[in-house]
Amino acid sequence: MLLVRNLTVRFGDIAAVSDFDFSVATGEIVCVLGPSGCGKSTLLRAIAGLEEPVTGSITWGGKDVSSVPVHLRGFGLMFQDYALFPHKSVEANVEFGLRMQSLDRSDIAQRVDAVLQQVGLDSYRKRSVNMLSGGQKQRVALARALAPSPRLLMFDEPLGSLDRSLRERLVLELREMLEQLRITALYVTHDQEEALALADRVMVMRGGHLEQLGTPHAIWEKPRTEFVARFLGFNNIIKPTQARAYGWPVPERVGEGYVVYRSDGFEVHPLGEFCGEVLSRTYRGDHFLVKLQVEPGLLLEIAVRWAPAPGVGDYLQLRIDPDAVFTVKM
Ligand code: ADP
Ligand code: MG
Repeated sequence: MLLVRNLTVRFGDIAAVSDFDFSVATGEIVCVLGPSGCGKSTLLRAIAGLEEPVTGSITWGGKDVSSVPVHLRGFGLMFQDYALFPHKSVEANVEFGLRMQSLDRSDIAQRVDAVLQQVGLDSYRKRSVNMLSGGQKQRVALARALAPSPRLLMFDEPLGSLDRSLRERLVLELREMLEQLRITALYVTHDQEEALALADRVMVMRGGHLEQLGTPHAIWEKPRTEFVARFLGFNNIIKPTQARAYGWPVPERVGEGYVVYRSDGFEVHPLGEFCGEVLSRTYRGDHFLVKLQVEPGLLLEIAVRWAPAPGVGDYLQLRIDPDAVFTVKM
């Protein structure tokens, strides 16, 4: 198990990573999720040994690895676009992952055989990487990272530059392989869908701080702060005083926070709490996302699954499902 305690990394005056406490259990996939510049890469690099923390400890199985050199920590890293050699063979790319090990030729060949078999690429050994599909390239990168038998595999936005549909497919494939191979992984991304699809637990990061840590289900069902809610794409976030003034449902213990109305918690109803004008509608596959002007300065986003979907300029009388309402801290 990886255990990180009070980890802080500074660049001059900036604390890129501030007082981090978390663990990754053996076989667990933890995703670090946050916007660009929030310190995700710095966190990963510090754990790998590529940045020096000012305080904190990093232990594996109870042993402090803080002073262990990068290549002896037993942690593997996979970067954006996989950083493969496109003109080299599958086998040459995987061998590259073993360059820091002092192995003889036959040990290297055996290790390459073993990992290519693990990822299902044994019959592609001699194939040039640029002849492979996206999924196969991902498996080469995985084989290369696995070749030195790391106890923890870390990913820094490996799918960052790919288009959405390919990314969705590769994430599912990756999840399947990580599970099947029982790999312990720390995976960095700025894409919430990727994190929710891949992780056993998600760590949401904001400005160097750990904002929320939980299962994808817990994070999605109960974002703790306005920041997390907005980052996950919840945009109907309203002050309780305003919501009460409209006669909308407000959870009792809202305190200092805001009220969030899930976009799928609205239905057309003649006795609905409010009325709004459709400003736009966007096709989203299984629903339309409708932007509704309730009054000047108050826009709502509503997921419409009923047919026919309302058109721009239509007025809707809507009822709010009280179960689709929750509160967040500021
Ligand atoms: P992310 O990976 O989430 O985009 P980074 O970890 O790369 O974020 O960066 C976090 C913060 O630390 C940013 O403000 C960035 O400008 C700063 N930073 C990162 N690396 C360095 C460095 N080598 N020197 C100075 N500042 C850095
Ligand atoms: Mg980064």
